[in-house]
This record gives sequence, C-alpha cells and structure tokens, in this order.
Amino acid sequence: MTKPTRAWFEGSRVLVVGLARSGLAAAGLLVRHGCSVRGVDRRRPEELGASAQELRDLGVELRSGSMDPSELDGRDLVVVSPGVPLDLPLFTEAERRGIPIAAEVELGFGVARAPIIAVTGTNGKSTTVELLGAIGRAAGRKTEVLGNIGTALSERAESVPENGLLVVEISSFQLEACTRFHPKVGVLLNVTPDHLDRHRNMERYAGLKARLFEFQTKDEFRVQPLGDSRIELLLRPMKSRPLWFGFADPTGDGVWLEDGSLRFRFAGRSGDLIRREEAALPGPHNTENMAAAAAAALAVGIPERAIAKAMREFRGLPHRLALVAEIDGVRYVNDSKATNVDALKRALESFSPPVTLIAGGRDKDGDFAAIRALVMERVRHAVYVGEAAGKLEQSWPDVPHERAPTLEDAVQAARARTLSGGVVLLSPGCASYDMFRNFEERGARFEAAVLELKRSLAKARR
Ligand code: ADP
Repeated sequence: MTKPTRAWFEGSRVLVVGLARSGLAAAGLLVRHGCSVRGVDRRRPEELGASAQELRDLGVELRSGSMDPSELDGRDLVVVSPGVPLDLPLFTEAERRGIPIAAEVELGFGVARAPIIAVTGTNGKSTTVELLGAIGRAAGRKTEVLGNIGTALSERAESVPENGLLVVEISSFQLEACTRFHPKVGVLLNVTPDHLDRHRNMERYAGLKARLFEFQTKDEFRVQPLGDSRIELLLRPMKSRPLWFGFADPTGDGVWLEDGSLRFRFAGRSGDLIRREEAALPGPHNTENMAAAAAAALAVGIPERAIAKAMREFRGLPHRLALVAEIDGVRYVNDSKATNVDALKRALESFSPPVTLIAGGRDKDGDFAAIRALVMERVRHAVYVGEAAGKLEQSWPDVPHERAPTLEDAVQAARARTLSGGVVLLSPGCASYDMFRNFEERGARFEAAVLELKRSLAKARR
C-alpha cells in the first residue's frame, strides 16, 4: 500500500469537535503531526474530567462549553469525533466557509501503515472485528482491534507496523462524516432497521453504510452478503473487488457454507476452511459473521490455516448468546446485546424449541409483529419486562406469556416454566435504558440472577 510520508493534515490549524476519548486521541495525533489544535465540546472543561488536563498538557486550546460557529475563526480543518451529530450550526458554517470536515477515523487512516479492515452493519460488528483480531493474531501479525468497540483508530494506528493488521469497527454515525476513508477491505455485514430514530429512514441509513466503499480503489475489497438485493444494488457502482459471504456458492470470490463446511474461493484458489461444527460460535448469524471475517482475512493475505485455527478457538463476546450456566438440564443464555428485533430473531434461530424467552425493555420502534411466526415456532413461554411489555403482548398474541417486574423475577418465572432440555434465553430485542444503565449491566444482572439460582438450588439439595 502506498502511503504519503506526510499526513495530509500535517501542520493544519484544526478544530476538534467532541472531546471524549476519541477526540482526545485525535488531538494527540494532530499535535504529533505539527498541527495547532483548538478543541470544543458541549460540556465545560470541569465536566470533561481528566481529559481536560490531558488536552491542556498537549497544548490544545480548550474552549469552555462552546459550540459557537465563531470557534471556526482561523481554522482550516474541522475534525469530528464519533457520536457528534452533524446537524450542528458549527458544521453548516464550516461548509459555508469552505473549511473541510473530516471524521476522527480518517486521521488514523491517514497515518496507518498496516492494512485496515473496516467493519460496519447493523448487527454482528463487534463479534466480527474480535474474530478478525483473533485471526490476525493466529497468523502471527501484530493486530489491533479499534474504533467503535473501544480505542480510537487515531490513538493506535501508528503503532502497528506495515506487516500488521488494523481492524476497525465503524458505525454509520462515523461514516456520515467521512469523505476520504477507504480501507483495504470494507465489510458490510447487514442492514436492518435500527437507529431509525436518528437516521430517519432506511434508504439514508443504507446509503451511509455504502459510504464505506465509496472512495475505495479497484485494488481494494468490499465484503458483502449474498442474496441481499438492496445491498447489491447499492454497492454495484463501487470500484472495489467484491467478496461474497453467505449460504450458497457465490460463483465469484468469497466464503460460504456448503454441506456443513465453510468453503472459500479467492485469487484462483478454492477449498474448505473448516467444518461448521468445529467452530464454537452458535447460530446461522455467526456463520455469516465467520464467513465475512474469513473473506476479509483472505483479502489481506492471511493463510487459511490461521483462519481455521482462530475460528476453532474463538468463543465470542460477553452478552452475545453467552452460555451462563446449565441448571437441571436447562441452559441459560445471556444475549443482552440483542437490542433490536433482528438480533432477537437471530437468537431465536440459534436454538431449537422449547425456548423460554425473556424480552422487553425500551422499545426502539421495533417491528416485533414481523417475527411472530418464528416466535410462535420456537418460544414455549415468554416473560416480558420493561416498557415494551404491552407492545410485545400485542405483537405476539398467541404466545403464552407473563410479565415480571424485575429481571430477577423474570429469571425465577422462566425457571418455573422450563423443563429439562429447554433454553432460557434473555434476548430483549429492546434497549436497556428503562431499567439499566446499559446492556452490559442488564446482562450482568441476568448472569448474577442465574448464578444465584444455581447456588440456592445446590444449597437446598445438600
Ligand atoms: P454489534 O457490534 O454490531 O452491535 P454484536 O456482535 O455485538 O454486534 O452483536 C449484537 C447482537 O446481534 C447480538 O445479540 C448478536 O447475537 C446479534 N448478531 C450478531 N451477529 C449478527 C448478524 N450477523 N446478524 C444479526 N444479528 C447478529
């Protein structure tokens, strides 16, 4: 990959908008590259905590609680942190003045030496980037997994050598501000309704995801799902080389499931990667994540045996279909990360009946009625929690159910309804904010309740 020896932003006078961790990382990178940096945030410096001092130590001119367009005075570049909405007057004014706007991730991109695999989509991003991280390490390459999932690309991009690998999770929010980002490999996992509140409509959302590929060249790759005609139409005009993933031979290059094996075809070679059952990740959605990750890995020259090894060993992330315990022949599974209808659907597809489903929380305008047939097929009994309980009852009128006031009560209720051989599945299909701080807290509370149940039963039987 040819890279400019000097970053395109070298020596610029930059305004960084949003001063949380990514903004701080961006400021650090800019300062290292000879830029003078002014930083603004809606919060005042005393609300920024430790990062305010770190910013000052870097020599950043810190503006207190101001997002006023006049902060643009004397600036020739604006850098946007992920999560900052682009409809602020500040950005309109930047456009009016002809000051270019760049996303934080584009700074990291500008200085990275290792190839970048960037992953976006509605669901499966974190699982896929972590699997790619495991694949990179299995191949003996220095690998960093960055972006949305934790550390900003601009913080670590320079620390990985040319023969290493940078894996970046990127949300549609971040893509919105991108005008020059073109990874060696872009992966679009899927586009289903989520965040509709912010993106207004699906077309616009899908368009933002396509942004990942818009600036790619013909020697770069896009990894895309087989059989999604909307995505195919959207990506057809792109210059990059397509790599397909899915459940049928794509005839072109890619990775797919056939006769129980993950098969690949790439650069004139083809064969089996592994038998599906050898991999630890459950469910058809994880078959898709694995196939997408494998295709991306092949594109950056990772050998098949390293891909296979990582797939055998990778156990997935917490709160995503994680087996918590088996009690009296019943498996308790934590899928707290399922915050939308599609993720809930995928969870149900991963288990054969009888499933006792714990669902509900803060509804994100989800179309639960759309999966009514699947719920009826798989779910023997449902326990509803949180604000969405009433909507779930209406969406699946023929599913036996009850409501529980707390997650702990829900676990007790589910236990009473589930026979040996069954699965108690927490897969809320909703956000957690009505009852919890975030999905992690919800998942942790579920796991604690399950483990408490296990302890108390063991004690009672002693
Ligand atoms: P993200 O980072 O995109 O939110 P995660 O890997 O954290 O993705 O998974 C989020 C939720 O979506 C989990 O409940 C998981 O089981 C489910 N999921 C994972 N991969 C997929 C996929 N390819 N399609 C649909 N749902 C998925």
